[in-house]
Amino acid sequence: MEMALDEARAAGERGEVPIGAVVVLDGAVVARAGNRTRELNDVTAHAEVAAIRRACEVLGKERLVGADLYVSLEPCTMCAAAISFARIRRLYYGAEDPKGGAVDNGVRFYAQPTCHHAPEVYSGLNETESADILRTFFVEKRELP
Ligand SMILES: [Zn+2]
Repeated sequence: MEMALDEARAAGERGEVPIGAVVVLDGAVVARAGNRTRELNDVTAHAEVAAIRRACEVLGKERLVGADLYVSLEPCTMCAAAISFARIRRLYYGAEDPKGGAVDNGVRFYAQPTCHHAPEVYSGLNETESADILRTFFVEKRELP
């Protein structure tokens, strides 16, 4: 989770919304990524999707069976779906996102009958720190001329 927060901070330093994600398999980090939507002009370049893409590339697999994903913020609908499609075993996330989250808020993707694989979900990891990184980023952004 610390690594996901480092990725979040690094994303913030690049001017991206500070969210970071890490994929772990058998106790080893397979991929880590932060948001790059602005840099890549790609709305799908969320940290979770980027980390899943990279992990699949590294492992040469379409799915990440048995892998766990750590992310600093509750995943959005797109990422919640990607996590399900990738067959992630456990999802650990930091702060809840009542505005854009899709796991414990919004559409509650994993509770839907159309969801064919739901990871085990553990929320609230380093919650305060995760939320603070985001809050600080948006406060500083507002203060820019
Ligand atoms: Zn997302």
